[in-house]
Amino acid sequence: MKENNKGAAGKLNALSEVRSLNFLEEIVEDHLEKGVHKSVLTRFPPEPNGYLHIGHAKSICLNFGLAKKYGGQTNLRFDDTNPTKEDVEYVDSIKEDVKWLGFDWARELYASDYFEQLYDWACILIEKGLAYVDDQTQEQIRSNRGTVTKPGTPSPYRDRAVEENLLLFRQMRDGKFADGEKVLRAKIDMAHPNMLMRDPIMYRTIHAHHHRTGDRWCIYPMYDYAHGQSDSIEKITHSICTLEFDVHRPLYDWFIEKLDIFPSKQYEFARLNITYTVMSKRKLLQLVNNNYVTGWDDPRMPTISGLRRRGYTPESIRMFADKVGVAKRDNIIDLSLLEWCVREDLNRRANRYMTVLDPIKLVITNYPEGKTEYCSAAVNPGEESAGRREIPFSRELYIERADFMEEPPKKYFRLRPGGEVRLKYSYIIQCENIIKDQNGKIIEIQCTYDPSTKPGEGKWRSVKGTIHWVSVPDAHEIEVRLFDRLFLKPDMDDLEEGKEYIDYLNPNSLEVIKGYAEQALIKDNSGIAVQFERIGYFITDNVDSCESKPIFNKTVGLRSNW
Ligand code: ATP
Ligand code: MG
Repeated sequence: MKENNKGAAGKLNALSEVRSLNFLEEIVEDHLEKGVHKSVLTRFPPEPNGYLHIGHAKSICLNFGLAKKYGGQTNLRFDDTNPTKEDVEYVDSIKEDVKWLGFDWARELYASDYFEQLYDWACILIEKGLAYVDDQTQEQIRSNRGTVTKPGTPSPYRDRAVEENLLLFRQMRDGKFADGEKVLRAKIDMAHPNMLMRDPIMYRTIHAHHHRTGDRWCIYPMYDYAHGQSDSIEKITHSICTLEFDVHRPLYDWFIEKLDIFPSKQYEFARLNITYTVMSKRKLLQLVNNNYVTGWDDPRMPTISGLRRRGYTPESIRMFADKVGVAKRDNIIDLSLLEWCVREDLNRRANRYMTVLDPIKLVITNYPEGKTEYCSAAVNPGEESAGRREIPFSRELYIERADFMEEPPKKYFRLRPGGEVRLKYSYIIQCENIIKDQNGKIIEIQCTYDPSTKPGEGKWRSVKGTIHWVSVPDAHEIEVRLFDRLFLKPDMDDLEEGKEYIDYLNPNSLEVIKGYAEQALIKDNSGIAVQFERIGYFITDNVDSCESKPIFNKTVGLRSNW
């Protein structure tokens, strides 16, 4: 994706109009046509060990979107098989985020609800001579697995009798062994070209409290054993996961085949990567725990809760997921595409207000002191029902420091000594004089106004520049938090040798400033981000803002500044 948003997104727009089916849609249509399945059931299977990020949003949109398109349904299944890292706080946040994105799950399920069934099935595999208890240490198991070019060495316990295996597995369940003492392994092929098929571990002992099953279990199934069987129990037709799981597929199929249960199938697509962003929950957790950010919902985080606090809308995230498409090969998407999507959405929906974020005072010397009049403006030019606002105007205003230049370059159409500009929704003014402090810093600009130029009244006269303003008596002080990308490197999967992702943190990703806003902004209750005219989109910070101290987060600028 190029930096040039309009170009990139424009092309994508053109593409999506004629877009053919993605490869998953093709598979589903084929299955429905041939009667392989009568309906579609997908699942979104997060592990509750962190907050969801934009990569998960992609997966959510894909799973729910695919099922919906073909009249099917989607389960929300918590893949809660690792008690040491999981927590109900995460379960709650995940449910909130999926709902906020606009999706309803058919059933809320937990892999831990299947522990008994999974245990019974493991016993069946033992009885079939397809699983055994291994006493080797983790280290021995690893070193005996062989390499890609060398077959593994069978465990000395590989040929244990069925009865002994059943007894030992029962004892594992009953807590007779310490963590690491014994594992249950599938008996497949120690010379298999796919390393994951060399007698993979099915169960390990973890004496830890589980957020749902409490202390009932001390053996926990591994991902590979739990996931496919959970899919099968729910009769998931299309189990969609990311590409790195393609090597797990033979194992996924092996368990289902040997157990002779509902034949769920796994399909892989490329995971979403975004420039200047890390997306693993482990790394995001470190950012939180080490206070590099203020929490999972820090507006700089790529989490759904962070994006929400930043002012992203569910619509913009769904639009992004759609534009990214479904790829079969790993790639990296430019962050500017995500920004383009939210800009598109907010441009249509956001209410408009004037704010001045780097103020300089402007006095209209021929305007009566103490007088207030009102300038009428649409709250949202794209949405008539949002109504109009009456903006107070007076002799003293704030304008942006950047909208005045003493010695401007050519093509500078804003205010300059002797020059004219229009004050948005109001009069044309002319700069007569500037006042500086003893350091030479401009502290006041003195202008005159042309009373015949108020929009809708008198005669229309146009000038090249228009600038925004806030009337001093009406100005409400606001705190504004400006964000930059969290990391300095575009491809955070490709780090220089000896460096860690933390080494690329942008030290200037947060800037806090004070500004002034028209009163109407403070009373806005649209519930979504608003446009600060000529600046960008901003949203009330839902954590720190209060009536006496309004705080706004910058969602995105009006145009890409990279
Ligand atoms: P992480 O590596 O960030 O911890 P994960 O894959 O371990 O992610 P899970 O909770 O297991 O996180 O993921 C739930 C679902 O979301 C899985 O189906 C997974 O494939 C999908 N998913 C996770 N990250 C991405 C991503 N970057 N792009 C697309 N899908 C993703
Ligand atoms: Mg995972």
